[in-house]
Amino acid sequence: MKETMIETFSPEETHALGKKIGQQAKPGDVYTLIGDLGVGKTVFTQGIAEGLGIREPICSPTFTIVQVYEEGRMPFYHFDVYRIGDIEEMDEIGYEDYFYGNGLCMIEWANLIEEILPEKRHDISIEKDLEKGFDYRKITIRELD
Ligand code: ADP
Ligand code: MG
Repeated sequence: MKETMIETFSPEETHALGKKIGQQAKPGDVYTLIGDLGVGKTVFTQGIAEGLGIREPICSPTFTIVQVYEEGRMPFYHFDVYRIGDIEEMDEIGYEDYFYGNGLCMIEWANLIEEILPEKRHDISIEKDLEKGFDYRKITIRELD
């Protein structure tokens, strides 16, 4: 397992990190994203989308589990499984086509569906540390396989 820690001090820096990941992403890459409300998950995800060449704004896919964006250099599958009641809901949407497909998957609240996550993935967490300032974020990326 490889672990990288990056510190950002503004939303722009977090957006830029996401954009870099979006630019470097390969088809089939899976990212999970964990972090408290207001920490910057949407800022980061918007950066990823931009890095893929998607111009439309990313909305939280709260009522759909997955939101698909086809506009970029590969499909972007943005999951938010926060409201999932049962893991069978993932079967119903055919999650394997996304997780093992040719796009980039980003899964928010992935801890709720841990048992079906691909072993090969990147886990990202974003955390605040108020002692280091209101706009400080610690972003940890773990590469699993
Ligand atoms: P989430 O999706 O995790 O609930 P959002 O991305 O919607 O959070 O909001 C994050 C908020 O925190 C935004 O208002 C953003 O401007 C602010 N912010 C301040 N500093 C940072 C930073 N370093 N990285 C990301 N967002 C930051
Ligand atoms: Mg959000």
